[in-house]
Amino acid sequence: MLKLSHVSVRFGQRQAVDDVSFTIENGEILALLGPSGSGKSTLLRVIAGLTPSEGQVVLAGRDITTVPTHRRGVGLMFQDHALFPHLDVGGNVAFGLSGAGKQERVDELLELVGLAGAAKRKINTLSGGEQQRVALARALAPEPKLLMLDEPLGQLDRQLRDRLVIELRELFKRLGTTVLAVTHDHDEAFALADRAAIMSRGKLLQSGTADQLKAAPVDEFVADFLGATASVRRWPQ
Ligand code: ADP
Ligand code: MG
Repeated sequence: MLKLSHVSVRFGQRQAVDDVSFTIENGEILALLGPSGSGKSTLLRVIAGLTPSEGQVVLAGRDITTVPTHRRGVGLMFQDHALFPHLDVGGNVAFGLSGAGKQERVDELLELVGLAGAAKRKINTLSGGEQQRVALARALAPEPKLLMLDEPLGQLDRQLRDRLVIELRELFKRLGTTVLAVTHDHDEAFALADRAAIMSRGKLLQSGTADQLKAAPVDEFVADFLGATASVRRWPQ
C-alpha cells in the first residue's frame, strides 16, 4: 500500500530524516516508534505532503512524492486534534465530506467511534477521550487509503489511553484500514500496531513485531529503548 524509498529530509544543516525506506502492506498497522526529535513527525509530513530532499513515496502504486496534500488520499490525526470549536460534533465530522448522503455518513461514523447520537453536541462539552473520537471520525470520513496518527493519544491519561488503543486497533482491523501511527511509547506501539519501526536520529534502525524486536534487537539503542535486555546488558554492580 505504501512504499518509502531512501527518503531524506534536511532543514538547513540538520538532517531530520536520513535515508529511510519501509513499506506498509494493505490493512497493516505500523507504528513509528522513537524518542522525541528522532524524525517521526517529519517522516509523516513527507507522506502527507512535504517534499523530501531525496527519495520517493509511492501510495497504492502511484508516485505521490510531489503530489499536493489534498490529492494524496491520506487521512491525518494529530495530538492536538484541532477540532473546530464553532461547529458541533456533526459539523466537525462532516467537514471533509461533500455531496448527498452526508448526514447518514456522519451518523454512521459517530456510531463507529462510539458516539452515536452526539451530532448536535458542542465540542467544549466533550471530554478529552470524546474529542479524540470525533477527531478520529473526521479523519476516517473521506475513507483515506492510508490513515496517519501522530501521537494520537498523547494528551489523555494513561487509563484512557490503554482502553482507547485497544478500541482503535479493533476498529482499524474491522474496517481493514491501513495505518501509520507515530508514538514514543512502546507499550502503545505494540498494543496498537502489527509491527513497529524504531527510529533514532533520523534513521530507521529496525522494524518487526514486538517479539522479533525484543528477541533480536540490532543494537544497544534498540535494546535499551525497548527495555528488553536491560538486566542482561548492564554491567554487574
Ligand atoms: P519527532 O516527531 O520524532 O519528535 P521531528 O520529526 O519533529 O521529531 O523532528 C526531527 C528533527 O528535525 C528535530 O531535531 C527537529 O528540531 C527538526 N525539525 C523538525 N521540523 C523542522 C523545521 N520545520 N525546521 C527545522 N528543523 C526542524
Ligand atoms: Mg513528533
